Amino acid sequence: MSKSKHGEAVTVVVRCRPFSRREEMSGCENVLDVDEKRGQITIRNPRAPPDEPMKVFTFDVVHGFESKQRDIYEDAVRPLVESVLQGFNGTIFAYGQTGTGKTHTMQGVSSDPEKSGVIPNSFQHIFTQISRTQNQKYLVRSSYLEIYQEEVRDLLCKDNNKKLELKESPDFGVYVKDLSSVVTKNATEIEHVMNLGNQSRSVGFTNMNERSSRSHAIFGITVECSEVGPDGEDHIRVGKLNMVDLAGSERQSKTGAKGKRLKEAAKINLSLSALGNVISALVDGKSSHIPYRDSKLTRLLQDSLGGNAKTVMIATVGPSHKNFDESLATLRYASRAK
Ligand code: ADP
Ligand code: MG
Repeated sequence: MSKSKHGEAVTVVVRCRPFSRREEMSGCENVLDVDEKRGQITIRNPRAPPDEPMKVFTFDVVHGFESKQRDIYEDAVRPLVESVLQGFNGTIFAYGQTGTGKTHTMQGVSSDPEKSGVIPNSFQHIFTQISRTQNQKYLVRSSYLEIYQEEVRDLLCKDNNKKLELKESPDFGVYVKDLSSVVTKNATEIEHVMNLGNQSRSVGFTNMNERSSRSHAIFGITVECSEVGPDGEDHIRVGKLNMVDLAGSERQSKTGAKGKRLKEAAKINLSLSALGNVISALVDGKSSHIPYRDSKLTRLLQDSLGGNAKTVMIATVGPSHKNFDESLATLRYASRAK
């Protein structure tokens, strides 16, 4: 597939976060070299002899330590959100080891507009575009759910412990029964919806990271546009945008998980590997069978992955030698999507 043409079905972006203070203090070595112009990332195995060749990966877009939230949005996300406004479906997901910047990339820092992430930037984009149109009427609905251990929960419902069912109908395809859907009229309202969901995400867990590292969160926006056509009839087009903060990709077996935790780990990895299989089957283009049914995540995203839908995968990696194995695994996962 040709590089750097965002017209294609799957765009892969790799973002490398800067060293944290802690990493800097403890003398971590950098194992990544990012060449933004060429779209290449070189990774060095800190345990290998010095003459061993380094591994080089090429992607549609790569971003190094200095990248700004805006860069990520402009390069890869803006064209996808444009196409949602045109009535197509699209999915953006953040994939990577816990602590590498998935939530930073998707949500960002709400108190600092410079640092707002993909999700709030898409709100601004969508409502700005809508305010500029004249002869169309728009309806924007949003939902926010979490998949944890292959169970679906509504993050916008008071009773967020209720497990929701996936259903399939000839008219709507796959949908979540009883999922809340909130109509919003501007960016402030939809941001409020996001914040409510985020609060509900952390309930029941001693720390936010513990939960977010094991669950997938999907913020969904449906944009419905109606316009009177030249024939005098109402024409409606509907585009759907899914923004997914995936569970941490780290192999849980290495973290010494046992019993319940280990079972949970198997389910997390199941959804992530099913997603990898679906994307690589789509990109490959030769498979007649796309294995959507293998996990809740891929079933839910079915109508927004493949077909006319556009997908952006943002893979996040950390620079430290301590993360070498996981960073390499993430780069390999991301390169299956090319
Ligand atoms: P994840 O969601 O993948 O577990 P986070 O988004 O929570 O990771 O990021 C971990 C930490 O690193 C946070 O403190 C976050 O602010 C910081 N961080 C992540 N990516 C960046 C970046 N590109 N620039 C600056 N800080 C970042
Ligand atoms: Mg996170």
